[in-house]
Amino acid sequence: MQRVEIFARDNYRCVFCGLVFPEEDLTVDHLQARSRGGDRSGGNLVTACGACNLKKGRTRLAHYLAQNPDAYRNFLEYATHVWKRHLAAIEEEIRKLRTDSGGLQSR
Ligand SMILES: [Zn+2]
Repeated sequence: MQRVEIFARDNYRCVFCGLVFPEEDLTVDHLQARSRGGDRSGGNLVTACGACNLKKGRTRLAHYLAQNPDAYRNFLEYATHVWKRHLAAIEEEIRKLRTDSGGLQSR
């Protein structure tokens, strides 16, 4: 899919902060990095604003969402076009993170 198709599908809304941005402030984020076997089809791509993309950096998505409850809530609400298997994998990874760390600090 083209960048603009992803943005239009997501209504130009960043799936992490939940805000709407003009096209020039948006980026396309891969849920599963291409280096980890992710592809460029719609179910693997979400709209993210430049600020969130920068904040997330190279952090694994599950780690980022586990550390940012607001972003996780927005992600679940807005990333509705994501493949279920990706969502399931992310949720499973977050569950493991929480178990391993004996529960993340809540803010
Ligand atoms: Zn954002």
